Amino acid sequence: MRESKDCNLIKDLLPTYIDGLTSVETNEFIQNHLQQCKKCKELYENMNANLNEKENSEDQKKIRILKKINHKIRTLQAIIILILIIFLIIIFRKYLILNHIENIAENTNYNNYYEKIVETTEKVISRTDYYQNGDNFISIHTKINTDDEVEKYVEYKLNDKEDYISEINGEKMRYEGKELIKPLGQYQFLNKSFLGNIGLALVPGSLEEMTLYRKDCYLLKVENYFNFIDKETGLTIKEINVNNNSVINYEYEFNSVTDSKILELINEHTK
Ligand SMILES: [Zn+2]
Repeated sequence: MRESKDCNLIKDLLPTYIDGLTSVETNEFIQNHLQQCKKCKELYENMNANLNEKENSEDQKKIRILKKINHKIRTLQAIIILILIIFLIIIFRKYLILNHIENIAENTNYNNYYEKIVETTEKVISRTDYYQNGDNFISIHTKINTDDEVEKYVEYKLNDKEDYISEINGEKMRYEGKELIKPLGQYQFLNKSFLGNIGLALVPGSLEEMTLYRKDCYLLKVENYFNFIDKETGLTIKEINVNNNSVINYEYEFNSVTDSKILELINEHTK
């Protein structure tokens, strides 16, 4: 009877005992009883075994979850690395093309060339004819505003003589002997330094191959800016800026400008 009463008590206490939450006195009582009572000892061993099993299966579960997470992290890492590699390939390709374009353009003879620049915006149409032979040049720039005002600027340097003449609606103004401003005609190529081309390659934008005016071109698109570059010369032949509706066309001619041609143009435009 006594045994059975103790047994019931032990049965109630065992889960707490296994969790290590019972007091030293209770522990002694339980241990004494377990040594004497086979039935309770068996019960205790069974409970302990069950608990271990449960703990083991929980550990297994945790391990499986951790493995899954690890797998996901590794997959994510692989994807990120792949995206980085693709990104680098795109940038490197752009950089190589830009460098190639620049090299071609720099090998072109820009000591003797004619360039025609026609720019159209919402408010202005302008045309620049620029002739250069060594240090000698003439730039003839005409501008028509929306209110039909015509502006003309002629600037030249021929040997030791240089001049700048402006003409607004037919009225001439002359600034003889004054310092020349930069030629309005600009030989157009990308002219970027090593870092400049890297920088340009890093700018989000595309570089496509296409045909314009029957010429094979690269189209450099950066947001609302389009730059068409002639593959053969590496020079810009058209620029479109959607932001201000401006379109610029460039034409070039090489090795055809002579000093006598420049003189002829000076006489024609500065009378
Ligand atoms: Zn017992």
